[in-house]
Amino acid sequence: DVTPPLLAIKELQAWYGESHILHGVNFEVREGEVVTLLGRNGAGKTTTLKSIMGIVGKRTGSVRFEGRELIGATSDQIARAGIALCPEERGIFASLGVEENLMLPPVVRPGGLTLDQIFTLFPNLKERLGSSQGTKLSGGEQQMLAIGRILRTGARLLLLDEPTEGLAPVIIQQIGKTIRALKEQGFTILLVEQNFRFASTVADRYYVMEHGRIIDQFASSELDANVEKLHEYLGV
Ligand code: ATP
Repeated sequence: DVTPPLLAIKELQAWYGESHILHGVNFEVREGEVVTLLGRNGAGKTTTLKSIMGIVGKRTGSVRFEGRELIGATSDQIARAGIALCPEERGIFASLGVEENLMLPPVVRPGGLTLDQIFTLFPNLKERLGSSQGTKLSGGEQQMLAIGRILRTGARLLLLDEPTEGLAPVIIQQIGKTIRALKEQGFTILLVEQNFRFASTVADRYYVMEHGRIIDQFASSELDANVEKLHEYLGV
């Protein structure tokens, strides 16, 4: 394939204060792919997403998006370039209703979904439109709201940090369905997941992280051949 990747990360290092967390991360994501970062707790997966977004203390190396270097850019410039992060903590404002939460992030590029399109993806959210308190939403509804919110912005690369965490199996299935629908609509997704079974229902490719580095990678078609190795990596 001669087309350059949508996202190319080279020798990425990152620090929180004095703590050196990423030690030279290398990987790429092509347009339209769902790529999953796997690894044990503390491997540096969340830090990788935050480094792409420009919200760690210090970072070096190269993060190229659509050919443009983002390593010196502010988080605001990175968002405007078309990357959005859906954080593990979801960040739903309890004092705001569904629609107000959806409207929070600014639209940065054309091509974002309309509220109607978001409600088509997440019919449960539409039913909760009347509720004025975000915290009264279930965990699954909050996760859908957190994803729906970044779809409005026009971002083309979505960074999803453990979207299934703490959710019931039936909701996890819905999130999987949504991710597949988003892929069909042309979004590119970089996913951090502990739930490997879930990841295997959506991912095209995987990278494995350990101690702030990528230590292995494989495509979904190579999964069967790598199951034992994976169990070792993930300690399951
Ligand atoms: P998890 O599934 O636990 O989130 P992870 O692979 O996403 O795992 P990170 O959250 O990126 O791992 O954490 C990597 C390392 O960075 C850990 O050792 C963690 O303790 C440390 N760390 C994370 N956030 C901070 C912070 N704000 N300040 C200092 N150290 C941090």
